[in-house]
Amino acid sequence: MTTIKLHNTRTRAKEDFVPISADNVRMYVCGPTVYDRAHLGNARPVVVFDVLYRLLRHVYGSDHVTYVRNFTDVDDKINATALARQKGGAEGTLEQLVQERSDETIGWYLHDMGALGALEPDEMPRATQYIAQMVAMIEDLIAKGHAYAAEGHVLFAVDSWKEHYGALSGRSVDDMIAGARVEVAPYKRNPMDFVLWKPSTDELPGWDSPWGRGRPGWHIECSAMSYELLGESFDIHGGGNDLMFPHHENEIAQSKCAHPHGEFARVWLHNEMLQVEGKKMSKSLGNFFTVHDLLEQGVPGEVIRFVFLQTHYRKPMDWTEKKAREAEATLRKWRALTAGIEPAASAAPAVVAALSDDLNTAGALAELHRLADGDAASLLAGAQLLGLLSQEMGAWADTASVDLSAHADRLSDARASAMQSKDFSEVDRLKAAYLAAGLEVRMSKDGVELVPGTGFDAAKLEGVW
Ligand SMILES: [Zn+2]
Repeated sequence: MTTIKLHNTRTRAKEDFVPISADNVRMYVCGPTVYDRAHLGNARPVVVFDVLYRLLRHVYGSDHVTYVRNFTDVDDKINATALARQKGGAEGTLEQLVQERSDETIGWYLHDMGALGALEPDEMPRATQYIAQMVAMIEDLIAKGHAYAAEGHVLFAVDSWKEHYGALSGRSVDDMIAGARVEVAPYKRNPMDFVLWKPSTDELPGWDSPWGRGRPGWHIECSAMSYELLGESFDIHGGGNDLMFPHHENEIAQSKCAHPHGEFARVWLHNEMLQVEGKKMSKSLGNFFTVHDLLEQGVPGEVIRFVFLQTHYRKPMDWTEKKAREAEATLRKWRALTAGIEPAASAAPAVVAALSDDLNTAGALAELHRLADGDAASLLAGAQLLGLLSQEMGAWADTASVDLSAHADRLSDARASAMQSKDFSEVDRLKAAYLAAGLEVRMSKDGVELVPGTGFDAAKLEGVW
């Protein structure tokens, strides 16, 4: 069996991955807060962990991997939208409007991530469905002396776990207090203590609890849901490296204190962040855009995926238009090479080996480039392991439905009559229209050829004549 090597943030080393049970390899990834469309940076962990999910399924069998990714649907921004809608005259209780907003954004999210070729995880729990489990875990943490109630809040007592807290991100509690922007509140015993439960006003969604009507803090949801769905010990926990502290430290503290005999997550994987044209993506820089924006602009989801895969997940990735154009040209070429061909029975060993080396997706793409030189069946099998060249994702590159030879004949005829009449206006008009549709126009004495180039859009050929 293939040995997968993964860089474990917890041990700071690349290790052979050995699952707790090869019959059920378990992975948890922190999912989105569903208050709006996912921006391009949100998509990076989705693609990274989708590749890992596909690799695990390839090695252990698709029935032997359980992938859980949550939806955070308890959030002040979701609530703010729901409240604004209610004040604007929308019908329904606040809870219903909150749910409506979450349903809407979850629908967008699944559509946009699907366009990037991401498989849906086996389980996609929503925080609001696990409130009872969170309350039970918080009660247990209080009973074990790791948490305390104060003024309607429940806080995790960091001092009760002081020697371990910060181990993942490599900080001590004292360093964190010195360096962090911690919320100082009179009811906290230690400024680093974090919220497990907080009170809700009437204008906020809330649930009854032993500490009054309130709602859970963010961190506790992942501990409660991963325990319910994967148990007290599981194999892989993933997320963006912006989640390492405090979110993942807090998840570890909660889970290890609630289930001291469990290991929680054995291997921690963190992806680096995404930039745009060399700059941090931000609304103030005007380079902020969503996956939906790109899809609307006609950038195919497959192209976005390809660009992502060119950079190793532990390196910052730079989204550029140039990369997107080059990716599109490569994919168009590969799709033409593999049209009508059956994929090889299994992915080429070199592709699997690259992926198994801590998800070296750039190395796997380099292998695909080699296979494109003469082995289309292996190219297709390898690309499909990476989630590329699937049938579902190919509509953008589909030129089979367009009869380009008819257009070439038309241009050829126009040229022939222009030779007689010396009026080349129709030839120029057709050439301009074909170029605008993304076709390369090759005219020689032997004839006319139209070749789909970067950005080819068959729809633009409608009405040319
Ligand atoms: Zn989480």
